[in-house]
Amino acid sequence: MQATERDNSCFLRGRAPDLCPLRVSISKVAFPLRYHSSMFQALVENRFAPLLLRWFDEQGRTHLPWQKEPTPYRVWVSEVMLQQTQVATVIPYFERFMSEFPAVKDLSEAPLDEVLHLWTGLGYYARARNLHKCAQLIMQQLGGRMPQDFDALLALPGIGRSTAGAILALSLGQRHPILDGNVKRVLTRVFGIEGDPGTARLLQLLWLKATRVTPTQRVGAYTQAIMDLGATVCRRTRPACDGCPMSGGCFAAYEGRQADFPGRRKKRQRPSRAAILLIAEIAGEGAVLIERRPASGIWGGLWSPPQFADEPEALDWCRREFGEPQRVAEELEPIDHAFTHFDLHLKLLRVRLRQRDQVGEADHRMWYRLAMPPRVGLPQPIRQLFARMLTG
Ligand code: SF4
Repeated sequence: MQATERDNSCFLRGRAPDLCPLRVSISKVAFPLRYHSSMFQALVENRFAPLLLRWFDEQGRTHLPWQKEPTPYRVWVSEVMLQQTQVATVIPYFERFMSEFPAVKDLSEAPLDEVLHLWTGLGYYARARNLHKCAQLIMQQLGGRMPQDFDALLALPGIGRSTAGAILALSLGQRHPILDGNVKRVLTRVFGIEGDPGTARLLQLLWLKATRVTPTQRVGAYTQAIMDLGATVCRRTRPACDGCPMSGGCFAAYEGRQADFPGRRKKRQRPSRAAILLIAEIAGEGAVLIERRPASGIWGGLWSPPQFADEPEALDWCRREFGEPQRVAEELEPIDHAFTHFDLHLKLLRVRLRQRDQVGEADHRMWYRLAMPPRVGLPQPIRQLFARMLTG
């Protein structure tokens, strides 16, 4: 793009001509130099919130279910669900969750299995366990009231700085910056902040920038606006710069370098692990043995078929518990699942048992009837596996 075209569309020039330092003709070389000057950065920071709010008033999302009655509790649940998950996916989960647990007291009194059951399919189950644990803590230690103070919120399990800020800004209009993945993308692009945003130095810089651009008025609307902009306009791929309120003053758009921001994290080799999942069925009953997994570790607190390091270990265990198992020739597709820090390959060892023997239903173990599933939390790949087994 020619410098003159960019000069004409500059958001500082168009909307605040007295402030615009670019009334002199600029060249493509001069723009980045001026852009990173403290004066230019301060000007962009000043215009950031007003432009974003104007865009939000015209095009922002105002009918999301958690925007109705935005109590700290409802906003908290929505914010936790929205971590790593898109709005469209979250909406039905949020509505089901709220109809089961309309208040923090209901959530605190629910069995963890019921909470995990309603979470099945959203992934990152530590979020659900923390919500449940927090709700109990709020009832037992905080008189049943969600904290309305930043430090008290931050002290709760699973609530980080950005989530605490979002809860207080969206529900109570308190001025706190947020810095989720969408906000990082917008800020690094607009302000041309280079480097790996996972490093402590860059994070500190981004928090500083996020604090500076957060307005003192209409903080709730602003917070929703910057999240919306990142999710719907300043997307990771193919950002819609033409319709973006920041386009006139955005460094990445000017340079045509949107794909360079945020910078890439240094690639580490992803480790992979392999294990055996024992699919023990009772002949003729359409039931599979499942166990509650330990609270910590992958899929913590969820239910799944027992997992072993290798086949001999799985068969030995089976012999001890049920007598000699009958191996089923029909194979099931292995499960490959990517966790945040490693890949897991689960080979499925299918055996048929003649009778239930002494393994009855207990706190940590049960028979999962495929056609009449109990209300327990299952990891999504296990839920999909059982659905495949049921249909054929
Ligand atoms: S102009 Fe483009 S790159 Fe810059 S903030 Fe807007 S959408 Fe993102």
